[in-house]
Amino acid sequence: MKIGILGGGQLARMLALAGYPLGLEFIVLDPSADAGAIPLAEHLHGAYDDEALLAQLAEKADVVTYEFENVPAQVAEFLSSHTQVYPSANALAVAQDRLLEKNFFHQINIPTARFAPIDNLADLEKVMPDIGYPAILKSRRMGYDGKGQIVLKSTDDLASAWNSMQEAPSIVEGFVAFSREVSIIAARRPSGEIAFYPLSENKHRGGILRVSEACHDDALQTQAQEYVTRLLETLDYVGVIALELFEVDGGLVANEFAPRVHNSGHWTIEGSETSQFENHLRAILDLPLGSTQTRGFAGMVNFIGDVASSEQVLSLSHAHLHLYAKQPRKGRKVAHATVRTDDKEEFTRILKGLVALANQTDNS
Ligand code: AMP
Repeated sequence: MKIGILGGGQLARMLALAGYPLGLEFIVLDPSADAGAIPLAEHLHGAYDDEALLAQLAEKADVVTYEFENVPAQVAEFLSSHTQVYPSANALAVAQDRLLEKNFFHQINIPTARFAPIDNLADLEKVMPDIGYPAILKSRRMGYDGKGQIVLKSTDDLASAWNSMQEAPSIVEGFVAFSREVSIIAARRPSGEIAFYPLSENKHRGGILRVSEACHDDALQTQAQEYVTRLLETLDYVGVIALELFEVDGGLVANEFAPRVHNSGHWTIEGSETSQFENHLRAILDLPLGSTQTRGFAGMVNFIGDVASSEQVLSLSHAHLHLYAKQPRKGRKVAHATVRTDDKEEFTRILKGLVALANQTDNS
């Protein structure tokens, strides 16, 4: 079986690494000549909307999936008319537009921050008395890792914030005073079978994920599973999904979902009996899903900008290094390390060691 992936970066690389033992082959479409999955896959080199390349992808792949949600929804629709595409073009369309996404959460009774659509400065001035300060202005599309987002502290910020959005259709959201950020990752097969991972607790800085830790017997696990089940079933979703949530007053408020494998689930590579990457492949191939049992204490630290030497990272026992074969660049995720051990104190010590190493090279 051959899996086609739109995007050939680190997520495609890790999908390929998980798929090789299952005898799978990979073909990726990516505009870059040196994307991380290229050594592991056939490469269609060009733009995501190049119809000749998309036709080749559809012809060569038994099933097509994606590693990032900002491919034009028409591309997923075009591919769907030629081959099997999972998750569906509809799930992609909802996930890539913050307004559709927030409206969808409301439709299925998942709470979010207060929000309003913004198309001009007058809209912003009109809704801010209701939304309140602080708030965040976000572009509806193409936002990730905190890009296309501006914090609004008072009415003085409105004009300059709107200016910097360069007329991009946007939404404004009330700032959520959360006590924790968590995500739930789940996989669903076409038959409807769902596997849930334990919640991941996530630490961001500057809008970028830095550290994730697997939670144990979390009081909010059941609520998160209920929310993500509603999302999966209403979208008739197939594949892995990540739902990002804020904890507020002991309950959960949704931020966004990613229709793909997710950075906050990288600890599942060593920390779970079956990784999110393998379960995504199993789901889109309609194979039985693997156990999501956590193996002891597990976590992950991102290396952003540049990465410490392999010698340094691997000298921490129970640490595993995952390099993405990317050139160092300011603010770029170039690698991550996971830690997994049965001993809680040891886990905390190694995670701290990894954070210290990541901070040495972090230039974001
Ligand atoms: P996003 O691109 O929407 O995932 O935002 C990136 C990060 O910015 C989130 O993980 C939060 O740390 C923070 N953030 C985004 N939206 C809000 C909000 N409405 N209230 C508080 N923090 C937020």
